[in-house]
Amino acid sequence: MTPFERTLRDVVAHDGPISVERFMGLCLAHYYATRDPLGARGDFTTAPEISQMFGELLGLWAVEVWNAMDRPSPVRLVELGPGRGTLMADALRAARVVPAFGDALAVHLVETSPTLRERQERALQPTRAQVSWHDTLEDVPSGPAIIIANEFLDALPIRQFVATERGWCERLVGLRDGRLVFGVGTEPVGGLPPVQHLGDILESPRAATDLVAALARRLAGAGGAALLIDYGYWGPAFGDTLQALRLHARADPLDSPGETDLTAHVDFHRIVLTAGAEVRVHGPVRQGEFLDALGIRARATSLKTRATAEQASDIDRAVDRLTARGATGMGELFKVLGLGHPSLEVLPGLPPRPFEGS
Ligand code: SAH
Repeated sequence: MTPFERTLRDVVAHDGPISVERFMGLCLAHYYATRDPLGARGDFTTAPEISQMFGELLGLWAVEVWNAMDRPSPVRLVELGPGRGTLMADALRAARVVPAFGDALAVHLVETSPTLRERQERALQPTRAQVSWHDTLEDVPSGPAIIIANEFLDALPIRQFVATERGWCERLVGLRDGRLVFGVGTEPVGGLPPVQHLGDILESPRAATDLVAALARRLAGAGGAALLIDYGYWGPAFGDTLQALRLHARADPLDSPGETDLTAHVDFHRIVLTAGAEVRVHGPVRQGEFLDALGIRARATSLKTRATAEQASDIDRAVDRLTARGATGMGELFKVLGLGHPSLEVLPGLPPRPFEGS
């Protein structure tokens, strides 16, 4: 047993069963603080780690948004949960086509993990951009901002409720016979839709909605736009989306706490409702459609003119993977949502009509 698991068990033994939200929060803080989880030798891979085209297209997206904002200077280019810093490095390189944007921008990374902050610093050194790190979005200095988050919302803790005869009760993590087990609280929680089937699970992404509310207030007040990319659905829906990944394979979320990547699917409908009327909502659309609209195929063709045959087939494979349709394809599973100041009528790649479907 790891020292972290021992501490977690002590917490549960002392406080009694803890909420899924607190369990996720404790485990994820330990998980991200103690490793670089990305890449082939880590636990999971993300779009910017699959291909440089992803970050490049987002860099050009940011330039277009900045133009539409009437080119404020300074503009804050903010990334939430930047992982290895790959997306931002690729974005800044692509954005060099408009030097005035580079002159206007200050890069702000919201990252809690000291291990990943170090990785990000190394990745961004060659760009010579002015970079600062913050623990939360609230710590980023005020002013017009372009905010990007890829696979960030899914890494925030969620609450879960279980439908019981008493109503919706908080799903808990407790100890039984020396093992961590799921349990259910005794007090019903109000303000939720009526129970339909006993045993249903309802999720509430409180950390994500708090963040999106703050983000929307910021955009409405100071101007700018945000791009939120994540795997998710258009709720409401019942079901348990809490999942654990280790070495690219599914794991039991209660096994090896703090050593697996815990995530939950994002309910984009909840996110849109939280953003409220102060900001204009763009999309969400499927990632495949978004990347196609931004010209991923043209970018691939241009990269291939300078590539070896092997590199060219890597580029084709990356385009296929990032845009793949079907239930497990990244192009379909991942959705892209834009939020912006109402003065921005259009955001590149995003139709104003919301995506509907699963
Ligand atoms: N966006 C990156 C990495 C996604 S993994 C990519 O696409 O490759 C999630 C990232 O969010 C990691 O950098 C992790 O350290 C960071 N993170 C997780 N929880 C966080 C929190 N509460 N506050 C700030 N950063 C967090």
